[in-house]
Amino acid sequence: MKLAIAGGSGFIGQHLIHDWLQSHHEVFLISRSRQPTHDPKLTSVTWNQLQEDPQLLEGIDALVNLAGESINQRWTAAAKHRIIQSRLDTTGRIADLVSRLEHKPSVVVNASGMSIYGLSETQTFVEESPHVHDHFLSDVVEEWERAADQIPVDRLVKLRVGIVLGMDGGAFPKMYMPYRLFVGGKVGSGRQWLSWIHAEDMVRLINFCIEHPAIKGPVNGTAPNPLTNDQFGRVVGKVAGRPHWMPVPSFVMKTLFGELSVLLLEGQKVLPKKVLDHGFEFKYPTLDVALKELLRNE
Ligand code: NDP
Repeated sequence: MKLAIAGGSGFIGQHLIHDWLQSHHEVFLISRSRQPTHDPKLTSVTWNQLQEDPQLLEGIDALVNLAGESINQRWTAAAKHRIIQSRLDTTGRIADLVSRLEHKPSVVVNASGMSIYGLSETQTFVEESPHVHDHFLSDVVEEWERAADQIPVDRLVKLRVGIVLGMDGGAFPKMYMPYRLFVGGKVGSGRQWLSWIHAEDMVRLINFCIEHPAIKGPVNGTAPNPLTNDQFGRVVGKVAGRPHWMPVPSFVMKTLFGELSVLLLEGQKVLPKKVLDHGFEFKYPTLDVALKELLRNE
């Protein structure tokens, strides 16, 4: 297949591109600047090049858009502007690009986030759950999905990405660090939900969405067994053979991370109902299985 990816230089994108090249697909990486390519099947193109010449992507079968400014920074007014604008701009560019292709890709997978469900310790969210506006990111994600709805394609998947676990990026290396130093423990109340997914399952789930024509609309990209922060930490401690004992109070997180701390102190329990209904099988359905793989060299 001929596949294109925006934001492919990032954490999830690199895993996806590695998998696609292993499967001998032809891959187009859309970036803000030219990226090094070490494989003849991988072509790097810039957004500006595509604006000039969208035909470079003529004939692609699927397009995945993961682009967006990192949310993992202090949410100053300027950072908030970059976080939202980068997502609206890149998604708008994808809509424009697709509209100018003679043969449209059969599917576009556009990233989104779980924040669309709001924050809760008691509710369980599936794709049909209503949108809730209760913090900055829930507004971002709603606008992001609205921009994605403008992409003129028969099949749009809005991938509500969970907390992707890998050793080479994302949140997990920072979550694991205190355990490595024997000072792991719950964060804040420990009751906030963590809806996680192993990076390899994230790749498999994206490929599953591309390959299954019946899947469209919102798709939760999470494993079927979310855990609270306290439960998550206990499993990390057990698998890593490290103690889970030193709590980090909420005020410390708020002082260290400012408004961003809402993502660490609160969460949401999200289930991947749509892909399960379509028969997707997780390779890492539970956290202990996922961590045994991630920490195998520790
Ligand atoms: P990364 O931050 O690792 O990569 C995102 C990519 O977006 C970058 O490689 C970059 O590509 C592009 N990008 C960064 N800043 C900008 C900007 N200001 N304007 C335009 N493009 C930009 O993200 P992940 O791979 O971790 O995640 C992919 C998507 O999934 C993101 O949108 C993220 O918000 C979302 N997500 C991820 C989660 C996770 O656990 N990792 C959890 C929930 C959501 P380049 O430099 O090549 O242009």
